Amino acid sequence: PSWFDQARFIPADAIFALTAQYQANPFPQKVNLGQGTYRDADGKPWVLPSVRQAREALLEQGLQHEYLPILGLKQFRDQTAELVLGSELYKEQENKIATCQSLSGTGALHLAGLLLKAVHTELPKVYIPEPTWSNHYQVFQSLGFKCEPFKYYDPETKSLDIDSYYSMLRTAEPNSVVILHACAHNPTGFDPTKEQWREIAQIMKARQLFPLFDSAYLGFNSGNLDEDAFAIRLFMGEFNMEAGVCVSFAKNMGLYGERVGCFLVATNDEQVTVRTQSMLEMLQRSEVSNPPGFGAKIASEVLGNDALRKQWYQDMVTMSDRIRSMRETLYKGLISFGAPGSWDHLIQQSGMFGFLGLSSDVVVKLRGLLIVAPRSIVDNKADSDIARRETSYLHGGQFSYL
Ligand code: PMP
Repeated sequence: PSWFDQARFIPADAIFALTAQYQANPFPQKVNLGQGTYRDADGKPWVLPSVRQAREALLEQGLQHEYLPILGLKQFRDQTAELVLGSELYKEQENKIATCQSLSGTGALHLAGLLLKAVHTELPKVYIPEPTWSNHYQVFQSLGFKCEPFKYYDPETKSLDIDSYYSMLRTAEPNSVVILHACAHNPTGFDPTKEQWREIAQIMKARQLFPLFDSAYLGFNSGNLDEDAFAIRLFMGEFNMEAGVCVSFAKNMGLYGERVGCFLVATNDEQVTVRTQSMLEMLQRSEVSNPPGFGAKIASEVLGNDALRKQWYQDMVTMSDRIRSMRETLYKGLISFGAPGSWDHLIQQSGMFGFLGLSSDVVVKLRGLLIVAPRSIVDNKADSDIARRETSYLHGGQFSYL
């Protein structure tokens, strides 16, 4: 007998399984529309000029590899809080914000979960938009939270279902947590308008629901970081609400693999913040002890150097413009090829994700036409589960733009 006899076989995450199929496919003109990573016009990963210059500056300064403090690089945490809140709001609220460097956005969500769990004997319910980034469930369920989906997208109208959203908020269990995609909703590409955000904040404040922003696409959505941080600043500023923000620099700095992120939490009391900050330090200690240094130093160099920061703002415009133009090209292509139905939803969406709104039958058919993958991948018994999950993942036709 093995100590691990009870281990169950867990199929690989669908999106990574799809990438493996893509890599195994020998077709020379293949494009990977599955994984949310930006590609340049040659289909290559893009190191942002601002990041490249920051990296060179760090090397020149003589990079060492000592441990960072448990909470991470202090300068990076402060810069991130100021970036997200904007300097005016940051100045007002600085002493009410606890911060902790995290293993990118995923790690920030996990830290948020650990903290919410540590400060409540009765676990709050976590409301999650449907559909959403699948890891939201894994992160919160693995910590023991009960996750409840709410209807966010209407497949009939192919747009945001704001009435369902409001009615969930009006009936949600008090003292629950609601996951809010700060911008560029993954996977639908539909965000509330500014007016709708205001209504959402109003109901949440009145009903004492805790806003937990997943903020993985700031500046990457519109090209303007202030615009993309609108909802966060509205809740924390105008509505003066307590809130958590899970920040990732994976996309907007292209630092995917370096795992650069930060968890911010705004409380309504300076003393509570001091205690919350100390709890974050304790929680981080037993999880990662000391977060990784290289990426945080790069981000800090970009944020702290005027010329590099200016270049970074330009880099975000470059990426978001290209994504927008790919979206328009696809839209025009579908129309000029006479694809049946309306495709207007495609250009109403924003951000890196596009939701075609295809039925799963159509998606399966397209797979059959498009995938010239070595049969062994799909025939292999252990992988048949993956193939099935992939199909369900592709239900609705999710893809990202290169
Ligand atoms: N939230 C959303 C909605 C995402 O799309 C992603 C990345 N795909 C993340 C969080 C976290 O990504 P990372 O851990 O790489 O920062």
